[in-house]
Amino acid sequence: FDDRDGWIWFDGALVPWREARPHVLSHGLHYASAVFEGERAYAGPGGGRIFALRAHTERLLASGRLLGFGIPWDAAAIDAACEAVLARNGLRDAYLRPIAWRGSEQIAVSARATRIHLAIAAWEWPNLFGAARARGVRLAMAEWRRPPPEAAPTAAKAAGHYMTGTLSKHAAEEAGCDDALMLGWRGQLAEATGANLFLVIDGALHTPTPDCFLDGITRRAVMDLARRRRIRVVERAIMPGELALADEAFLTGTAAEVTPVREIAGRAYAPGRITETLMADYAALVRGADETDRADQRVAAVRPPS
Ligand code: PMP
Repeated sequence: FDDRDGWIWFDGALVPWREARPHVLSHGLHYASAVFEGERAYAGPGGGRIFALRAHTERLLASGRLLGFGIPWDAAAIDAACEAVLARNGLRDAYLRPIAWRGSEQIAVSARATRIHLAIAAWEWPNLFGAARARGVRLAMAEWRRPPPEAAPTAAKAAGHYMTGTLSKHAAEEAGCDDALMLGWRGQLAEATGANLFLVIDGALHTPTPDCFLDGITRRAVMDLARRRRIRVVERAIMPGELALADEAFLTGTAAEVTPVREIAGRAYAPGRITETLMADYAALVRGADETDRADQRVAAVRPPS
């Protein structure tokens, strides 16, 4: 993915894509002192608009603080850099990847003197699951669990958390599935390797409490859209046995958007009315000229499902 044309924002300047290289002795590479974001821009009336840009930027800054470092750019500068990357690459519909990491001044566990770097790349990436999304994705149960919050800063979108995500995703793909469903350390349902989980049980939306995994920005937007539709939203601990009670299941995430799930560990689900309604509402929300006003007007104009 490094040998292509384009521009990457790197520590304050736009550099050619092929030249955006950190040193091999970067602390972030050896000790996972790296935090990142995944954002998406949608082509709108005035060009590409990054959905929930400030929320992503603030989560990036918070992730850095959770790993003990300050990113040497404020939120306004990071927002502007994300927009500059889109514009310089001529992108409107795109995925953006800001990443901050500890540099190569020191290579030991202790690295308080390292410089903090920030880079932002953007590229076209229609959906996390590609063509599989249309028919619904198949999930396998992961062998690895999300760690307890006492064992890792689980609220951070930190590179280190993705070690077991990659292992789990590879195992799921080898078993012919699209993704893995990970449990939390207590055995409760947690999330997929890059997206949050929702179940529809008796007409209500149930989603695991994010106490040991990422509380997705898409997750929160979808909960809000459901409430506007007067769909009851229940955030709680959910045991795997309750998968048998669900009528519909779907995943949410910046790259996954709202993706129907058609199978979890051999159990089949059909994308139903609630999944389809929220897919459409989310698509309209992210493409609206003004996130809040447009969503309010649109949702007010439609009657809630009975
Ligand atoms: N969980 C994990 C592990 C993720 O990588 C992502 C994608 N960032 C999510 C959940 C969904 O988060 P968001 O909706 O903020 O993209």
